Amino acid sequence: LLIAIEGIDGAGKSTLARGLADALEQAGAEVVLSKEPTNGPWGTQLRASAATGRLSPQEEVELLLRDRRQHVEELVVPALARGAVVILDRYFPSMVAYQGAAGLPVDELLQLNAFAPRPHLLLLLDLPPATGLARIRARGDVPNHFETAQNLERCRAIFQQLDLPGKQVIDASRSEAEVMGDARAAIATALAR
Ligand code: C5P
Repeated sequence: LLIAIEGIDGAGKSTLARGLADALEQAGAEVVLSKEPTNGPWGTQLRASAATGRLSPQEEVELLLRDRRQHVEELVVPALARGAVVILDRYFPSMVAYQGAAGLPVDELLQLNAFAPRPHLLLLLDLPPATGLARIRARGDVPNHFETAQNLERCRAIFQQLDLPGKQVIDASRSEAEVMGDARAAIATALAR
């Protein structure tokens, strides 16, 4: 089972990913929890650009695709093949949203990701950018250059419009427990199918 958790910054993706991984492990599943951009060479370069100045969207796409190819080949596909549940904190829809918000055509971004296995479940944590930004500040972080309300509004709109199988929108402006409850219900439904 491949589960991707998506949404703008401050939506609670990492918290939900950890919570789901714990719950599924307790239920006896082998869980592989990972994220994109990864901590590999390409992902690290992309993250570093948050501090050193934004790259062009084309350069970002190039780095992110290299990062994703390696991630899919070395980690995601082998884990799925042995029956593990794979939980991804961001996946190709983030590229469609963020680099789409930076001006690249959404259809082309989707085509570039045709190689990437489709998630069985795409949990979209949806919330207003102001709420996400307030959470980032509340945890003591300073929003980076990707994280302006205007940019995140564009990313949110693309996430909302994305038409992908398995997509479930969760209202992420609510409590962690409520978000977790909805996510677990969505997984139970997916497993029963
Ligand atoms: O998920 P995380 O907060 O670690 O993401 C790292 C940063 O990279 C975020 O600021 C996010 O806005 C940015 N990002 C991006 N394009 C992507 C994925 C993430 O600009 N495709």
